Amino acid sequence: MANPTHILGNLDAVRRRIADAAAKTGRVPEAICLVAVTKSVGIAEAQALYECGVRELGENRVREALRKQDALAALKIHWHMIGHLQTNKANKAVGKFVLIHSVDSLRLAHAINAAAERAGAADVLLQMNVSGEQTKSGFAPAELEPALEQIRSLQHLTVRGLMTMTPRLDDPEEARPLFSSLRKMRDRHRKSMPTLEHLSMGMTQDFDIAIEEGADMVRVGTALFREE
Ligand SMILES: *Cc1c(COP(=O)(O)O)cnc(C)c1O
Repeated sequence: MANPTHILGNLDAVRRRIADAAAKTGRVPEAICLVAVTKSVGIAEAQALYECGVRELGENRVREALRKQDALAALKIHWHMIGHLQTNKANKAVGKFVLIHSVDSLRLAHAINAAAERAGAADVLLQMNVSGEQTKSGFAPAELEPALEQIRSLQHLTVRGLMTMTPRLDDPEEARPLFSSLRKMRDRHRKSMPTLEHLSMGMTQDFDIAIEEGADMVRVGTALFREE
């Protein structure tokens, strides 16, 4: 288990990388939301992050997220759902996360909307498959416009932006064109859908590049917990 001292040092390094990348695009570090991904660690590490001032935590499985939420219910943590969400789990997820980053199909959007009708509003990002990899879930670029058209009519769900996951890359620079194309998609559709604000892109391997290309949310796990 990574001890708190370890996590604090890692967090400082991550924050420095965020600040440097933000500066390159003329932004302040506060403009970038660090979503600390706790999927691979336990409750103690999540709490250690909180004690270091991190308030946004990300999980990729509903059941594990709810377990941590229960254990840390006394803390004011904003939980983000970042992993694939099965349609039949929408009920369990809605109301438990400030943002669902991983809406990857219209079926799921409809299920979240129906759950949100009972539980209150739901803020989501649409997950885009920018790299075109068969194994990655998400909307293909050509599907975005028709998807937004349909989602517009869902009254209990608000699309706050776009998310993407890059493949594992030998050279993180290879992610740059993928990030930049996600930003262009967001910019293009923002005119007709002004809530399309956020770009959730970048993980340990490439979050600096994602920020340089316009990310305002980065999802970072490994860099916070590694012990080397
Ligand atoms: C695990 C995960 C991350 C974090 O990846 P690291 O390489 O550990 O920083 C980001 N986004 C998603 C969707 C993940 O599942």
